[in-house]
Amino acid sequence: MKTISIVIPVYNEQENLVVLHERLAQAFDGVRDRSFEVVLVDDHSGDRTPDILCALAAKDPRVHWVRLSRNSGSHTACTAGLDHATGDAVVIMAADLQDPPELIPTLLARHAEGCQVVWAVREQREGESWFTKTASEIFYWLMNRLTNLNLPPMGADVLLADRRVVEAFRRMPERNLSLFAAISWLGFRQASVSYVKQSRHAGQSKWTIRRKIVLAIDSFVGFSYLPLRAMCYIGILAAAVGVLWAACILVLKLMGVTQQVGYASIMITLLILGGLQMLMLGILGEYLWRALEESRRRPRYFVESASVEETTSQSLPPRG
Ligand code: UDP
Ligand code: MG
Repeated sequence: MKTISIVIPVYNEQENLVVLHERLAQAFDGVRDRSFEVVLVDDHSGDRTPDILCALAAKDPRVHWVRLSRNSGSHTACTAGLDHATGDAVVIMAADLQDPPELIPTLLARHAEGCQVVWAVREQREGESWFTKTASEIFYWLMNRLTNLNLPPMGADVLLADRRVVEAFRRMPERNLSLFAAISWLGFRQASVSYVKQSRHAGQSKWTIRRKIVLAIDSFVGFSYLPLRAMCYIGILAAAVGVLWAACILVLKLMGVTQQVGYASIMITLLILGGLQMLMLGILGEYLWRALEESRRRPRYFVESASVEETTSQSLPPRG
């Protein structure tokens, strides 16, 4: 019988874990021909999360947990989960019940049809502000236009990945990697199903604006050279405007018209060009800093304690 792993990043979710486990167990009961394991990755929570995870694992042999040595962000926590999952396919979802566990059978049905990556695409998002929704729509629109990725336009927080996809992902050693962008980039046979993203069961979102901006930058820099190219184009454009301007002034001078160049226009040009140069240095810095991070070869995460061992790369199932 095929095993399905459910990987869940957990950060200070003490109020959600017991209900999450109940809902998962109910969803598993509805699936006859699969066995399940749940890998909960504690992203170094400061609340009662570790105790609750131990209690759940003691009660239910399908539950395993891994605790990271420091708070590393949910994408890194999911990466740790993928390294500890043993299933023939892995479902990644959040711990706050925004993504209903009842989705699992739908994802499995598409997997059984031969899809290797199944995205659960948010059709609606409940309990989230207008700002969050709009910013997310702009982000996905830009990602699909500016990178060679094909992400679901409404965004996705849940996905199923076949073992082959998981092994492919594990061969990507990059540090500041957006998990979802990476899985989209990998290719394979991808499909999507839609769902309504619900409000959080309890607690508050841990994705601050700052973290979202970092993820957006990671996603662009990781999969697009466009910012670097844009720097060349902007440079060429600015230089061309300068040459044209100089030519105009020369012609006017030859015609005997004296040009009055005011302080304001000099300041505007100086500030715009100065600003652009700083921006370009910043963009260069983003790429350079990432190259430095990669060259340091620090592990993406450290495990503080765990109820399971890391899986070694498995021999892949026969082609299907
Ligand atoms: N999470 C995590 N590490 C963090 C922040 C969040 O593992 O540093 C987990 C969190 O517990 C949840 C999932 O990632 O299971 C999604 O986080 P959250 O619900 O806070 O984000 P949102 O749904 O608002 O995007
Ligand atoms: Mg959430």
